[in-house]
Amino acid sequence: MNIFYYDIAVGLPLRQCFTYKSKEVIKKGKRVIVPFGSKSIVGIVVKKIAKPKSLKGLKEIISIADEHSCFNGSIFEAITWASDYYHHPIGEVFFSFMPTLLRKQNDKIIIDLDDNTEYKLNEEDKKLKLTKEQNINLSKLNKVEKFSPSLIYGVTGSGKTEIYLQLAEKFILQNKSILILVPEINLIPQLEKRFKDRFNGDIGVYHSRQTPNQRLKVWLRSKFGGIRIVIGTRSSVLMPLKNLGAIIIDEEHDQSYKQAEGFKFSGRDLAIKRAQIENIPVFLGSATPSLQTLKLVKEKKFKKFDLLRRVDGKKPPKLIPLDISDSPLLGGIAIETMSIIEAAINKGEQVLIFLNRRGFAPLYECDNCGWVAKCSSCESNLVFHKSKNRLICHQCESVYGVNKTCPDCHSNEINTLGTGTERVEEVLRSTFKKVPIIRMDYDSTRLKGSIEAIYEKANTSKEAILVGTQMLSKGHDFPKVTLCVILNADGGLLSPEINAIEKISQQLIQVSGRAGRNNNLAKVIIQTRYPNDENLKQIKTGDYRLVSEQCLKNSKALNMPPYSTVAILRVTSPSPESCYKFLDKANNLLNDKKNINVTGPLPSIPLKIKGNTRNHLIIKSDTRTYLNRVLNYLTYEIQTWPETKKVKWSYDIDPYDMS
Ligand code: ADP
Ligand code: ZN
Ligand code: ZN
Repeated sequence: MNIFYYDIAVGLPLRQCFTYKSKEVIKKGKRVIVPFGSKSIVGIVVKKIAKPKSLKGLKEIISIADEHSCFNGSIFEAITWASDYYHHPIGEVFFSFMPTLLRKQNDKIIIDLDDNTEYKLNEEDKKLKLTKEQNINLSKLNKVEKFSPSLIYGVTGSGKTEIYLQLAEKFILQNKSILILVPEINLIPQLEKRFKDRFNGDIGVYHSRQTPNQRLKVWLRSKFGGIRIVIGTRSSVLMPLKNLGAIIIDEEHDQSYKQAEGFKFSGRDLAIKRAQIENIPVFLGSATPSLQTLKLVKEKKFKKFDLLRRVDGKKPPKLIPLDISDSPLLGGIAIETMSIIEAAINKGEQVLIFLNRRGFAPLYECDNCGWVAKCSSCESNLVFHKSKNRLICHQCESVYGVNKTCPDCHSNEINTLGTGTERVEEVLRSTFKKVPIIRMDYDSTRLKGSIEAIYEKANTSKEAILVGTQMLSKGHDFPKVTLCVILNADGGLLSPEINAIEKISQQLIQVSGRAGRNNNLAKVIIQTRYPNDENLKQIKTGDYRLVSEQCLKNSKALNMPPYSTVAILRVTSPSPESCYKFLDKANNLLNDKKNINVTGPLPSIPLKIKGNTRNHLIIKSDTRTYLNRVLNYLTYEIQTWPETKKVKWSYDIDPYDMS
């Protein structure tokens, strides 16, 4: 009887596969059940291998979980690429792209649900008559048939969504499927509605706020052709859609495409890789593209399609810095700003107020002795949430009761300091008693349907004020807004992060894109203490092409990404000393290597989360090939160190956040 040998990946943070034997021929990408320690677990067949030299202790595959493969050719290839590129344990990468219900041994298996939606164009949803610009670009984009990344560089309000819809139509009518990626869950409902209106046939959505059963169903229906349009966040990038025609990446610049924890991959970059493997078109849309994408356009690796004008022909709003150095602030709002808001409200218009901090106040402190409420397991101050009457740690989400007296000096002069969205909301409510005040942040959008309710309220109200965090700045369409207020841009302008200016200019220009969709006199007020800041002077032109050109020049001069490649070696441990020793050893190992530049060990920000200290090492190189070689070597060494047992370590490749 023949015996076959297989390398199996398991869903554990292990940088290796395990060899098992079986009497069956099993295709790669299939789920199998294998004995592991004293348990049996789910594994993925990575490859068939030759008979190992030693057969000692070699165990047998218990069973093949499904008749169908979990990962077919191109997706399998994308996963192995991702594991190499991000230097992340292969099993964890496989498991990241499986619906949770398939990760464990249970009664769920991969089966064809045998349903078929027929997709037709909904004739009742009138296709918009394209503007000249839209038309020219669409006809060019329609000619893209193979892998060739296309940047749809369109100012906010230039009608990119209509282009996506008409592009999707082409593929759907060819009986292909289409994947649309968005950076945040909150952007799904609006897009889902546009697609539902346009197409008869099910639109699948896929994101982390769905139940495991919902996700499994969408995944299975995609795999067997029951669904041919999926809109999802980064976790859906490897959706096994049958006969995939193209991928659309909306708001491609958005940093939320990067997963910050665990397997730290960029959904955008992996999508582009997938498109390359499948040799299909990939369309990246943005009003403020990432520097990386713009560099690739310069190098002619990406094609650019410009939409320079808004559909409504309206000019983009003016960005006006407002000096608040000498102005008293009420809930973060200067008096002058308040009267501008009032004027807009009196005209029956809507106002959008943007502040990148949720909760009521970021500090809860004792006026008498200076005590500040802190999280007991993180290095961070607790944020006062008035609506819940609780102090909350924004790092670990631990919830604390509100102290009535100071735990140090027993004084009852305890006060809040600073401003979050809840406080802005409260101040506005007391100032504009009859005006609807709508808050949109992490706290107000947790519940299912809440984002739809926010749209509904904004759409049905005449005058209204929307208050929100960065969430509000992204891609949303609030046609009645004529005034945007940015309460504090200084944090972003003065940040030492290397990509700070790219980020703040994207944010400000995106926010400004929410205003004036119906009004030529729309404006954006930027409250700042540094009205003469050089970067702000550029940003206020509202011309992202100018700002990004400058950013690219600076990056090139400093040899920073996208003109160099960076990896961060991150480490956490309950013991600060173990963290330091581990990174110090890594640093010493790399010290004599030419062509790389190593900085650290550095304390991460915040230094402590959930009782674990966090440190990191920044590793920079001119070329990706060389960096990869260095990281392979480093990984190999790390695994032999006794110090490694005392820490948790991981790489962050192409990091957005260097702290
Ligand atoms: P973007 O994504 O580029 O910011 P949207 O796709 O949200 O812009 O379009 C902005 C608005 O213009 C939407 O309300 C959309 O319905 C409308 N619109 C888009 N294309 C057209 C068109 N050709 N004619 C009329 N209105 C359009
Ligand atoms: Zn005190
Ligand atoms: Zn905490």
